[in-house]
Amino acid sequence: MKFETIATQGFIDLKKQNHSISHPIYANTAYSFDSVDYAVNLFDLKQEGDIYTRLTNPSNDIVEKRIAALENGSGALLTSSGMSAILVAILNITQAGDEIISTDKIYGGTYNLFIKTLKQFGINVKLISGDNISDWEKEITNKTKCLYTETIGNPSINVADIEPLAKLAHKYGIPLIVDNTVATPYLCRPFEFGADIVVHSTTKYLSGHGNAMGGAIIDSGKFDWGQNDKFKCLTTPDESYHGLTYNKDFGDLGYIVKCRAHLVRDLGCCQSPFNAYLTMLGLETLHVRMQRHCENALLLAEHLEKHPNVNWVNYPLLKSNVNYDLAQKYLKNGASSLLAFGVEGNGRKFIEALKLFIHATNLGDIRSIITYPAGTTHRQLSDEQLKQAGISKDFMRASIGLENIDDIINDIDRAIEISRK
Ligand SMILES: *Cc1c(COP(=O)(O)O)cnc(C)c1O
Repeated sequence: MKFETIATQGFIDLKKQNHSISHPIYANTAYSFDSVDYAVNLFDLKQEGDIYTRLTNPSNDIVEKRIAALENGSGALLTSSGMSAILVAILNITQAGDEIISTDKIYGGTYNLFIKTLKQFGINVKLISGDNISDWEKEITNKTKCLYTETIGNPSINVADIEPLAKLAHKYGIPLIVDNTVATPYLCRPFEFGADIVVHSTTKYLSGHGNAMGGAIIDSGKFDWGQNDKFKCLTTPDESYHGLTYNKDFGDLGYIVKCRAHLVRDLGCCQSPFNAYLTMLGLETLHVRMQRHCENALLLAEHLEKHPNVNWVNYPLLKSNVNYDLAQKYLKNGASSLLAFGVEGNGRKFIEALKLFIHATNLGDIRSIITYPAGTTHRQLSDEQLKQAGISKDFMRASIGLENIDDIINDIDRAIEISRK
């Protein structure tokens, strides 16, 4: 089945759900066991079935199957937030003493997780400036367990060159993990360019309505964890499951089964079935929403580029953009709804004069949202640090919603007018 059909109808079994057309919310925590033997097999992971909602739930299961299919992966797991998806994806293959390599152009939350929290647990993250492959290669050691990047960086809105990064990772027998939150599988499928694991904040476009926190991890099923002895956690027996070996016993699902059965079991960061239900509703219209998000963002970017009182515009599909060629290669269906620009007038006045744009720190909502990093999220940074983060004093980040484009443009134009007075 094609993308749009999987998103709206994939993996529905009407008989199993009492012929209810919409997949129901399973608001339960536990499941009854038919017999003791059945329970024993479930606990030994010898048979598929439900034990407890921290591990599996039918409301989550259908979303996991759809996301896995949309990303063209072997399996997926929903988590409580994007941050927990990233944490679990990395902890699944690392331990104290290991290293990972990423870029400094990543989401602020991920940045803090990498440079502070993972460090506290003895996992060292090296951050590279830019996509120059030789800079990444120089940092790889025999302790490096993965490379990590974002398809479209937030908030710098740069496009990652996934293919050579994946080749580099594979040369050293390690996987490439890609945060595909801003692109979504509708615009880019990182597995087609060699990535091995994809993570999402489903909080953003996948659920799409700004009403459900969530994350997802997707396994391509293609990485050979047994090619070297770097990933013993997957290739040697797990004592907490009576000596079962993930890689051997679950084939192309080994990585994702370990994320669920080991880490989400122990850390508890499952997605609530109610949020999974909201995520499913969002996913069902993902392809339609993304088209309009992209169309509106490109029209606004083109308008701002011609605007006399706009200092600069960053949107990958503008011909003038440094990422234009990469966008042509990786983002065939559009460049998503994130754009950044600098206004000439007073930033504070500009933000406060907007009526349609909501001043908040979120993206991927059906409503247009504007963020003013220098005045909010990055307020505590010095001028030097702001510069390093690629954030100028006039930096505005916008996530363009599904409103009428004329109203969106008028709102911005009016606010620019006021900001100059
Ligand atoms: C928001 C975001 C995250 C974190 O997701 P939460 O659901 O807020 O935990 C991670 N990566 C990117 C690119 C994001 O935009």
